[in-house]
Amino acid sequence: MASEDSWKEKYLRELEEAEHREKQWESERNLLERMLVRTSLASEGQRPELDELLGRLREDIRKKQINLQHWRELQDQIDRQITLLDEQAGPQAVSPTPEPQAPAEGVDLADTTQRLRIARRIGQLLGQLLQQASLEPAAEAEARELQQTLLTSNDWEVLREGLNRVADLVIAAITRSQREFEAFLKRLDERLQALREHFAQQSDVQTGRQDATATLDREIRAELDKVGDDIRASEDIQALKQSVSQRLEFIGSALERFRTSESEREKLLANQLEAMQEKVAAMEAHSEQMQAQVREERQRALTDLLTQLPNREAWQERLSFEYNRWLRYRHPLTVAVLDVDLFKRINDSYGHKAGDRVLQLVAREMSTRLRSTDFIARFGGEEFVVLLPETPTDEARKVLDSLREHVSGLPFHFSGEPVSITFSAGLTGFQDDDTEESVFDRADRALYQAKDEGRNRVSVL
Ligand code: GH3
Ligand code: MG
Ligand code: MG
Repeated sequence: MASEDSWKEKYLRELEEAEHREKQWESERNLLERMLVRTSLASEGQRPELDELLGRLREDIRKKQINLQHWRELQDQIDRQITLLDEQAGPQAVSPTPEPQAPAEGVDLADTTQRLRIARRIGQLLGQLLQQASLEPAAEAEARELQQTLLTSNDWEVLREGLNRVADLVIAAITRSQREFEAFLKRLDERLQALREHFAQQSDVQTGRQDATATLDREIRAELDKVGDDIRASEDIQALKQSVSQRLEFIGSALERFRTSESEREKLLANQLEAMQEKVAAMEAHSEQMQAQVREERQRALTDLLTQLPNREAWQERLSFEYNRWLRYRHPLTVAVLDVDLFKRINDSYGHKAGDRVLQLVAREMSTRLRSTDFIARFGGEEFVVLLPETPTDEARKVLDSLREHVSGLPFHFSGEPVSITFSAGLTGFQDDDTEESVFDRADRALYQAKDEGRNRVSVL
């Protein structure tokens, strides 16, 4: 809204300057009007028709009813009367000296002297005017020249012309003020038009603000139309100025109303947005927490507590997944079932805790040695199961054999004695019409075969 402040300030300043100029014009005008009244009074008593015209002139000035067209006509009529007066009087002998002097003789002696005195007096008044007033340069030069003529010339023809030009000066002063003020109003009108267009554009962009902007736009447009009407209709500067001031005030308060409602709307929206953001952030945090919790719980549900390996449920899930892949692509998929040999003895000899420890260590050794694409789970008790995707049974057998060898070489010690831990394994690959169950059964049978054949071995079916 900074640009609106600056245009407003600018107009207030222009208005102030216009007011200042107006005051100056007013004093020039008063002076010229007074001069005209005095001239007309001094000229009275020569011809009744002239007296009547001068009376009308004074009346207009008194009532401040200066209609320029009317005055031009009045001036023409006064000119005609003065010409008639001059024709009656006949040509005048003039003295070359600048001071008014009575002509040597003739009936118009008093008349001529009086006219010269009037001309000198007007010349003096014009001098005072020039000291106070600030006319346009051209008008000022003309006024100085005129003053010189009125103060020095004894030629009534020249003086008469000079007096006519005093009237022209009054008219010029009045039209000048009016013209300048109109120019000021025109500039104002253009700026306000630009402002109106700016708001019209804004209303196009921001649909949410359409109502408020349309109201403002309507109000400004109406005020601008009124200013335009006033400029066209009025010739009275004072009234024009007052009307423009009122319009400006109205536009200012319309803008203020708009700004207030806009900032309230913005505040409301900002608050709503903030509340929404907080709510969303809280929801996000809660959701993340919930997701983490669910992940954790799910992880827990699928993990064996003792060995931290995937449990039977996890195994079932992974087996189904790999089985479905196998159904689709028929890539080699092997299943192994492992069982720790004679584990009961470990428990019986060294205690259940030692047994637990054995299970933990064997689990760790096996899971770290398998490929990441392989999957090992604790099926239950001292039994483990392994899934080897993309692995034919003979290759899987090598993997299991090396694993078996590694486990059998682990340096367990119980009660100061080295104890060897071994396992037996049965393995088989998915084939033909196999299902999860059929494959598992076959692997289990292979395991029993390995046990039967003396343990610490891998059997394939
Ligand atoms: P085999 O070679 O024929 O498998 O002999 P085994 O002794 O391992 O077989 P059996 O099934 O007779 O015994 C398994 C033992 O494993 C019985 C049970 O007490 C023990 N066991 C099962 N689960 C756990 C466990 O979580 N911790 C401990 N310490 N022992 C367990
Ligand atoms: Mg067993
Ligand atoms: Mg066993």
